[in-house]
Amino acid sequence: MSTPSAPKILAHCPLCQTAYEDRAIRLLGAQGASRMFHLTCASCRHAVLAVILENQHGISSVGLVTDMEAQDALRMHDVAPITANDCVAAHEVLESKSREVVQKLLQT
Ligand SMILES: [Zn+2]
Repeated sequence: MSTPSAPKILAHCPLCQTAYEDRAIRLLGAQGASRMFHLTCASCRHAVLAVILENQHGISSVGLVTDMEAQDALRMHDVAPITANDCVAAHEVLESKSREVVQKLLQT
């Protein structure tokens, strides 16, 4: 099987409409029917992170403009997702130690 190429919807930079060069498109990973791409525009230098989902109904995509390099995106891709417990812990800290949190923020 050949290397999957980016679908047609990723052909142009959403910001300046310049056509992407092949080497500007990196496949970061694939999971099931979804693939994640990192695209760097050769013209305006903006980067876009795009997730493409293909199924029998067609192709849908979510893209976001990012300042992440492809390496950063790969690193973030491997980081464990924030869990419900993390959220509860953050909430508890804000609830019980809000004064300390504010003081820390003001010190920086
Ligand atoms: Zn561009």
